[in-house]
Order: sequence, then C-alpha cells, then structure tokens
Amino acid sequence: TVGAVALDRHGHLAAATSTGGYNNKPDGRVGDSPVIGAGTYARDGVCALSGTGKGEFFIRHVVGHEVAARMAYLGEDVKTASAKVIMEDLKPHNIGAGLVAVGADGSVAAPYNTDGMFRGWVTDTKEFRVASHAEVMSYP
Ligand code: ASP
Repeated sequence: TVGAVALDRHGHLAAATSTGGYNNKPDGRVGDSPVIGAGTYARDGVCALSGTGKGEFFIRHVVGHEVAARMAYLGEDVKTASAKVIMEDLKPHNIGAGLVAVGADGSVAAPYNTDGMFRGWVTDTKEFRVASHAEVMSYP
C-alpha cells in the first residue's frame, strides 16, 4: 500500500491510497483504501490521511473519519488523534497498522505499530505547504 497526503498553498487537503490488498484475500474483496472515511480521508480545515494495515479493521473503526472527528470535535492535534487510533483503538485486534496524515496547520503524523513503515515528507515546495507519503510494511 502506498499513501499520499498533501496540504496545498491554498490550504486544501487531499489524500490518496493505492493498494493491492493483501495476499490470499477473498475473491471480490473491497478493502479500506477506496472507502472514503476508512483507509483514505481528507477534509479541508481538519486533516488528510492515508492508512495501511488490515483493511477490515480500518473499515470497522472508520479510521480516517475517526481521526478527523477527534481533531474537529475534541480539538486534538493530528499526532494525538492518529496515535490514539493506531496505537490504542486498533491494538486489541493485534494487526499491524499505520497511517500518514497532515493537519490543516501543516503538522505531519505518521504513527505505526509495526517494526517499521517507510515514510517521508517535504515542506514548502512551490505548490505544497506539506506533501507526505508512506509505503507499507509487512504486518502479521
Ligand atoms: N489496507 C490494505 C487493505 O486492507 C492493505 C495494506 O495496507 O497493506 O486492502
């Protein structure tokens, strides 16, 4: 799975996620990546994020919307909200999970509960205030 998020010069937030799902997935399965609010979500004024991990649980927890809702309604910052969901909410399921997110203020968060997740970001390019991406990782 490869995810990308961006905050552009005009303050708009965007997220995208590309995935092949996981090995031996059921025939016809639709994962979380194309489900807006689950594996991919962006809302101007709040955050943009792209997740990775076993999608059934991202759908169940509506991870993308959950992070945004924590920020919008509880006033959490992007690091606090995304860490809560990845490290606490998903923990009982014992799945590897991570996400990359950017907040409307330009802060970046990239929590993961696995051994590693390739990730990176740039700031202050011509078009973007922040652009970030992550590639994922093996998970149990
Ligand atoms: N989230 C993807 C899916 O469940 C898989 C992945 O992130 O590796 O389809």
